[in-house]
Amino acid sequence: VALLVMKFGGTSVGRPENLAVAVRLVTEQATHDPVVVVSALSGMTNLLVELCRDPDRRRELAERFVAHHLGFAAEIGLPGELLDETLARWRDDAAAAGRTRRALSAAARDRLLSWGERLSAELFAAALRRAGIEAQAWMAGEAGLVTDDRFGAAHPLPEAAARLRELLARRPPLPVVTGFLGATADGRITTLGRGGSDYSAALIGAALGAEEIQIWTDTSGMLSADPRIVPEARPVPRLSFAEASELAYFGAKVLHPKTLLPALERAIPVRVLNTARPRDPGSRIVPEGEPAETSWRIKSIACKKSITAVTIVSSRMLMAYGFLARVFEVFGRHRVVVDLVTTSEVSISVTVDDVTNLDDAVADLETIGNVEVRSGLAVVAVVGEGAAARIGLAGHVFTLLGGVGINVEMISQGASRVNLSFVVREAEADKAVRLLHRGLGLDAEIEAAVHAEPSAAG
Ligand code: ASP
Ligand code: MG
Repeated sequence: VALLVMKFGGTSVGRPENLAVAVRLVTEQATHDPVVVVSALSGMTNLLVELCRDPDRRRELAERFVAHHLGFAAEIGLPGELLDETLARWRDDAAAAGRTRRALSAAARDRLLSWGERLSAELFAAALRRAGIEAQAWMAGEAGLVTDDRFGAAHPLPEAAARLRELLARRPPLPVVTGFLGATADGRITTLGRGGSDYSAALIGAALGAEEIQIWTDTSGMLSADPRIVPEARPVPRLSFAEASELAYFGAKVLHPKTLLPALERAIPVRVLNTARPRDPGSRIVPEGEPAETSWRIKSIACKKSITAVTIVSSRMLMAYGFLARVFEVFGRHRVVVDLVTTSEVSISVTVDDVTNLDDAVADLETIGNVEVRSGLAVVAVVGEGAAARIGLAGHVFTLLGGVGINVEMISQGASRVNLSFVVREAEADKAVRLLHRGLGLDAEIEAAVHAEPSAAG
């Protein structure tokens, strides 16, 4: 049987009009044997995090949590009694936490955080039943997602896949599984880390050997540029895992592809779709090595601001060995993460994103050579499989930039096969991104690909 995992994020389940669409999408896919994975209603995990953090507000926030779910049930026309039992248990749990002013244990915290997804799964299952589909809410742990006991950042155990397969095999009822959660072998609830429900969907999809995993969210996929910089930016129809990872690194907030690894390793494609615009084709993230007729294309112009460059010059190091090793030893010891690197005979320049420990590192680097630190820079990356190796691309890019007087401060070595990245002054970054988006013809290419690849979801 074709099997589909459909994951709905916080805004997809947390707004009445989106939930109605989500329920319709699942019923339309009934013949594809869907398994639904849900996040908490939007805002609820943040509320629970705050409740755990602040003992003085526990009572108030616990009641707000109840009111929000009852209000939401009413808005979508479901009887509030539906949630009576679960909300009563929530009240007990929250009251127990409220009685202590001590910091909560990590296990207690995860148990409190779990209520967001539990309620959301119950609401979703009830909405499906009202639409005539036999559906049942499942706690991920009870559905087989066993994890270690690293509360707050739990990892699935190797046996999770087989257990998920066994426990979710009996359908109907259509399973609506809580994202974000798991349970230890002895039944204590764990969480997989913030944003973890994408990971849940990938784990469940991989375990069940799904045909596709759909991540329903509030944007129509991963975009060809930040739309705040490039208004005509478009969703990229098809990306490789490496390209999607590159965009995530540059701040595309849609999802973190790392969480999709369990699915992509099993060659299951992942589609990112917009619940508010369900007919948009979205982005399809395909496993490495899947032949893609568009694979040579430039997919996106990404940009990361607030970048600092550090240059170390030492003529004494000319023809000497160990220079780079010493420089990187200093960065490593001070836990400074280095992104781009360029070298010459007598110098090395690196870019740094997080400058937390940079001052200490610079003090040590000064024993190696002259150090120059420049802030107010941005990294711009032309992202696309093969971009780094594509003959003529670099020349084209730098000619375009030179034509409008944008000075390129640093060019990376092309170590990544999926991007060509360079550094410009932050004040010129937006201009560079817009110029390349147009100059490399991204709008036109994406437009063409959208027409060539109609949505399977639409
Ligand atoms: N509700 C959780 C969070 O907000 C998990 C998720 O939505 O992916 O982090
Ligand atoms: Mg999310």
